[in-house]
Order: sequence, then structure tokens, then C-alpha cells
Amino acid sequence: MADSTAEERSLNFLEEIVEADLQSGKYKAIHTRFPPEPNGYLHIGHAKSICLNFSLAMKYGGKTNLRFDDTNPVKEETEYVDSILEDVNWLGFKPSNVFYASDYFEELYGFGVKLIQKGLAYVDESSSEQIALQKGTPTEAGVVNEYRSRSIEENLRFFKEMREGKFADGAKVLRAKIDMASPNMHLRDPVLYRIKHANHHRTGAAWCIYPMYDFAHGQCDSIEHITHSICTLEFIPHRPLYDWFIEKLEIFPSRQYEFARLNLNYTVMSKRKLLELVNEKYVSGWDDPRMPTISGLRRRGYTPESIRNFTERIGVQKRDNLIDVSLLEFCIREDLNKTAKRKMVVFDPLKIVISNYPESIEMLTSEDYPEAAEKNSYRELPFSRELYIEREDFMEDPPKKFFRLAPGKMVRLKSAYIIQCNEVIKDGSGKITELRCAYLPESKSGADSSGLKVQGTLHWVSISQAINIELRLYDRLFKVENPGMESGDFKDYINPGSLHVIPYAFAEPSLRNAKFSEGYQFIRKAYFCLDKDSSDEKIIFNRTVSLKDAKKG
Ligand code: ATP
Ligand code: MG
Repeated sequence: MADSTAEERSLNFLEEIVEADLQSGKYKAIHTRFPPEPNGYLHIGHAKSICLNFSLAMKYGGKTNLRFDDTNPVKEETEYVDSILEDVNWLGFKPSNVFYASDYFEELYGFGVKLIQKGLAYVDESSSEQIALQKGTPTEAGVVNEYRSRSIEENLRFFKEMREGKFADGAKVLRAKIDMASPNMHLRDPVLYRIKHANHHRTGAAWCIYPMYDFAHGQCDSIEHITHSICTLEFIPHRPLYDWFIEKLEIFPSRQYEFARLNLNYTVMSKRKLLELVNEKYVSGWDDPRMPTISGLRRRGYTPESIRNFTERIGVQKRDNLIDVSLLEFCIREDLNKTAKRKMVVFDPLKIVISNYPESIEMLTSEDYPEAAEKNSYRELPFSRELYIEREDFMEDPPKKFFRLAPGKMVRLKSAYIIQCNEVIKDGSGKITELRCAYLPESKSGADSSGLKVQGTLHWVSISQAINIELRLYDRLFKVENPGMESGDFKDYINPGSLHVIPYAFAEPSLRNAKFSEGYQFIRKAYFCLDKDSSDEKIIFNRTVSLKDAKKG
């Protein structure tokens, strides 16, 4: 995984196209857009599209619109609009304009009228089942029905009456008149408008007919003079239809380019499936830290930089592929290693008593950012006679290469002293309840004159000053790499151990002032962030990512 800076990296195919278009003078400036349908929260795949569209325009001094493709009143909500605005902004991008497809309903209706007037559209009264049947198959031409030869006047009247609410849902549709025998099924007289007596999140009850996605999307790009209309591969067969509309309507020729959508293993990315997880309470909401949504990743402790970096590293492909989630984890680790404050937290405590230490508290200092010398800062840590260390950091009968604590062995306590274990105390059942240790006063970190070299360094907290925190440890949401491709219901493959809660961990007191905007490394454990459910009574941290990739050891 070589570090790639913008200079070293060769141009991706979209950059090549844009450079050629600018050089040839086809465009003076480019204009892209990100066109989400507000029917769910954005996910990491959308982040790929956002970064691509905005970065391309930024690189070549162009503009990027955010346009809500809100043509389906039934599934769309303002909650989704708000979340999308927040996510795009959080990722670090400022749209040149925020538009809504619904702003163009009048114009789109006019496009429908224009096609009718040119003899290129007709009102069909067939049911949706009939229309589907009459479409034929890729190897068999479709059937031309009696509505196709209606007069222009009749079509104009019916289309107007559709708009006026004279007909019930499904009674009529407006179709393009293209070619019922075309090998491209999208050109077999696609439906342009359907009747839907439904309230729209922005236009309310103003409309009872709504344009189909295919009739709205390309035309909206045209209206906004989008030069490079970037979308995912499944829209390749739609392109001839969009080009047909542009030609027949004589509107601005936006040109569509397709790239491979981002797929990530061990998760699902379709909004329909994510909604199912939310509605059926497999997760706590769209922003559950296990979700691949931008809001989930944010709550999990991902930074905008790490996500932008990730989308940059995977590049722009023309063929579908499955990206390993460990690359995403690599990117956040790389970021947090520099930016996360170091803290000490004991997950599973074992008490130690330092017999030769006085009954007093000493304030020690420890580095916040050992991997970022430029922003060196220190915090204070209380040290005392009674401490907790991690239970797994002690073994009564250790194997040879165990460099942690054992009877008679020495270790360093991070930013504190070297200690030696002298006695192991157990309860009636044989469980170790306490260790008696001695410290070396001359071994203080930063002023060590002991001359001793010890191999292990342990994290610890002072018992009387430690604060209680809850830890939420997340694992992959699915047990299999590609749950959407498995047989049966994708939800059968949910990992039952995707959330493990440690209700009482012991943290150094400075974490009482943890901020939502900061990442933390609980040293020797993992990276964490404060969860939004936290309160003064209950401080909760989410595990963002482990310190190392488990696969690489
Ligand atoms: P989903 O399949 O997740 O519901 P969608 O394509 O229906 O996604 P839209 O709101 O229409 O969702 O997507 C907005 C934009 O984001 C589109 O241009 C779409 O091509 C792009 N996009 C969606 N999913 C991905 C993905 N996985 N990778 C890259 N781009 C994506
Ligand atoms: Mg879509």
C-alpha cells in the first residue's frame, strides 16, 4: 500500500476525460453533481460518489451541485434530506448549489408535453402487468398496443387530465414512443409519468403525477448544465435513453459516465436492506456504529479525513469488485495513530498493592501524542499505592516469552515506575484477588536512574481516582463476506457477536472531560470515541478500531 500523493498518482479515467474536454475547449469549466434519493441515510458507497464528484470539480476549478432526486413521494422524507446535508458537510464538501428534482416538476411536465407534441409520447391505459407483458423479452420484440396510435390532441388532453387528478392511481401512464422491438429494453416505450395521489415532502399535494426516475434524472442534469454526469455501472443501458431525451427535447447535452460502485465485504450497502436492519431492530438505528452509513461510521469514531483517504486509495474502477473492509480500517488507524490522545483504561481489573509506596497520591505526567511530535502535550495521571492492571497482564505460571507480570518478575508501569511482584493473594476458590508488589523509587519514567531494563510496559489506573466507563466493542455486522449474495435472507448471516458491552471498565480520570470531537487510543487496547448516548452519569465509549489488523497479527 504505497503512499500515493496527487502528483505521483496517474490520472483516473474520469480525470482523463475531463482534461481532454477542457483542452479541446468542449467546456470552459466542468460541473458535476451528487444526486441522492432522500429515501435513506447515506452509506460509504455514497461517500465514494461524493468524494469523486466534488474532488473532480475541485481539481479542475469546477462546481458541484447537491441535488435531491426526490421524484418518489412515497419513500422520501425530510429526515433523510437533513441527514444527507449533514453528512456531505461533515465529509468536508460545500455544494455550489443545493437543488431538488421536485423544483423542476413544472419543467419536467413541460418536457412531457413537448414529447407528446412531437408525436414521441402517448398516454397508455394498460395496467402495469399488461405493460410488463407487452414489453416482450430481450430475445422477443414487444407488442404494440392500441394506445400507441392515439392522436396528439387526445394525448395532450389525457396528460393534462392526469395532472388535474381526474384519474385513479395506475389508471394511466405517459410513455415515450421509441421502439417496442429495440434490443435495449429501456427503449421499449418506457413509462415517463405515473399517477400517484400521494403527498410529497416538498410539493405537498400540488402534484398527483410524478416523473419516473429515468425521465427526471437526466433532464435535471440538463437543466443544471451538468457537464459530466457520473453514475454507477448499472446505468450503462439507460444511457441511450437519456441521450434520446436530450436529442428529442433539444436540451443541454449532459454526458453520462459510469464507474463501478463501491462494495465492501462483511456488510450490505443497499438502502432497502439497511432500512430493513433499522426497522426490524437488528441495529439501534441508521447511525448504529456497526452500520456502513456515514452517520454510523461517524458515531463509531471515523474521521472525514480517513473516509476521504479511503475513497482516494480505492480509486475509480470500471469493473465491479469487493473491497476489503480492512482497507477502511487501515485508513482510520493511520489517521488516529497521529491524532488520537493516549489514555489508560483497564478493561478487566486485577488489583495490585504497592506495599512500599506511601499512603499518598503523586501526580505523574504522560504524553498525549507520542506519534505526533509537532503537537506534543502532556496530561497528569494520579499514581497511588492501590492500582488496577489488566487481569490478562499477569500469569502465575507464565510461559518463557511472557513479558508481562509474574511472581518475582519486573515490569514498567507506563509513565510511572518499575514494579516487582512479590506475592499473589487468592480467595477461597483459588481466584487471584490481589497482587502485592514493590516499586523502585529511582525508576520513575523520565528520571530513571535504576539502570534496569525491563521488557514489559503495562497500562494501569489508580483505583481511588479511576472513573467508571462503559465500553462498546463492535465487530463485523455479518459473518460472511458478501451477505447479499448468499442464499436465503441476508439477515440470516448477521454476526450474533457484533456488539460486546463491557459495562464497567476503569479509566484514568482525565477521560471525564472526553470530547465528541476527539479520538482516543486506550493504550495497548484499541481506538475509542465517546458515544452520543453518554451522560455525566454514564460515560460510554465506542471501539472505533483495534490497534492492529487481526489478520496480519
Ligand atoms: P442504494 O442502492 O444504496 O439504495 P442508490 O443508487 O439507490 O443506492 P441514490 O440515492 O440514488 O442511491 O445514490 C446517489 C448517488 O450515489 C448515485 O449517483 C449513485 O450512483 C451513487 N451510489 C450509490 N451507491 C453507491 C456505491 N455503492 N458506490 C458508489 N456510488 C454509489
Ligand atoms: Mg439510485
